[in-house]
Amino acid sequence: MKCAACGHTMEAGRGRCPACGFPVIYMTGSGDGKKALEAMAKDYRKKNVKNGVIGIKAYRYRKDAARRELSALELKEEIRLFRTEDVCEDRILWSKRSFENAVAKADMPEGHLWMFLEDGNGRRDFRVKMTNPDIRGRYYVGIQGAGAGRAVIVFGDKERYTRSEPVSLIREEGDA
Ligand SMILES: [Zn+2]
Repeated sequence: MKCAACGHTMEAGRGRCPACGFPVIYMTGSGDGKKALEAMAKDYRKKNVKNGVIGIKAYRYRKDAARRELSALELKEEIRLFRTEDVCEDRILWSKRSFENAVAKADMPEGHLWMFLEDGNGRRDFRVKMTNPDIRGRYYVGIQGAGAGRAVIVFGDKERYTRSEPVSLIREEGDA
C-alpha cells in the first residue's frame, strides 16, 4: 500500500509510514472520508516540508575519458537554491544563479546532480540522475512540484531542459 502523504510504498499492517510518519488510515470506498483523508495528508505534507531549503553541491570534476563520465574531485561550494514552500506544480521555479556547463552531451550523455534538503527534520543529501540537456554556455537548475510532497528537478535553460524522475521532499530517497 501507499502512504497517503508521501507516496512511499510499504507493507500492510503498519501504523505509520516509515518514511514520513503519517498515520496509516484504512478506508474503503470514496466520498467524504476520502476527501477528509486527502485534506489531512495535504496539511501534513505542508507542515513537514515547510521552511525547507533545497540546494546543490558544486564539485570540481575530473574527466574520466575511458568511462565517459566525470568523477567528483572536491566539493567547491554548497549553494542554496529554493525554498520548499515556493515549489509549485503548475510551473518550473528556476534558480537565480546559473552554472557553467563544460560538458558536451557527446562526452557525457547523463550524469548526477548532488543535492541536499534542509528542513525541520534535519539534513538529507541525495543524488539526482539527469540527462545532459546539451547546452552550450550556462545552465540553470529548476524545480517543479509533482504532487504528494514530491518534485521534479529540471536542468538546462528555459528553451532546452531535461527533467529528473520525481524525488521526495519528505522521505529518504537513497541513490535512486
Ligand atoms: Zn509517508
